[in-house]
Amino acid sequence: MLFKRAEILKTVGALGRTIDRDYKGRNPVLLVILKGAHIFAAELSLSIEIPHETEFATLSSYGDNVVSSNTLHFLMDNNIELHGRHAILIEDIVDTGLSLDYILKVLPGRNPASLATCALLNKPERRIESVEIRYVGFTIPNCYVIGHGMDFQQGWRHLPDIWAVNASWIKRNAKPPEVITYKTQ
Ligand code: 5GP
Repeated sequence: MLFKRAEILKTVGALGRTIDRDYKGRNPVLLVILKGAHIFAAELSLSIEIPHETEFATLSSYGDNVVSSNTLHFLMDNNIELHGRHAILIEDIVDTGLSLDYILKVLPGRNPASLATCALLNKPERRIESVEIRYVGFTIPNCYVIGHGMDFQQGWRHLPDIWAVNASWIKRNAKPPEVITYKTQ
């Protein structure tokens, strides 16, 4: 186990107080990158006392399992108005930095007044793109983590604590490859 829920909540509370101080009178909008950040974002929002709003966006990668900025697609409702707003991007974890780098290139097109980044976890050892993360919960070594919103093959997000899993755990818990069934008419 890397971090117990109580420790996570304490850190998230401290992030909330910093954001309260930095964004007083600016009505920021938290732009939550799904799915991994959903639990962190909810706890962060509850710990921010100044008025703020919350919106959601998704990143998906197509074509292969390798995340590269060429295969990423950013999905955000066109009705979300960021023009002139102070936006804070909420991520679960920054690993290679490719996702955040891509979002930080796309979002200025929506003309926010300012754009800052906030991640529960930072894994700097695997960084490919250097990205500025203004608010960081914890910095961790190079390991695969699950729980508190973060998944392994879409499961385990509900674990209250954050765990690092090793190769044998991954092998034991990996889902079998999908069986493709063909529908007959
Ligand atoms: P990137 O490599 O682009 O910085 O990270 C992109 C996304 O990969 C993160 O937002 C997160 O959803 C996922 N990711 C990276 N490292 C981990 C990890 O250790 N555990 C889990 N569950 N997801 C991760």
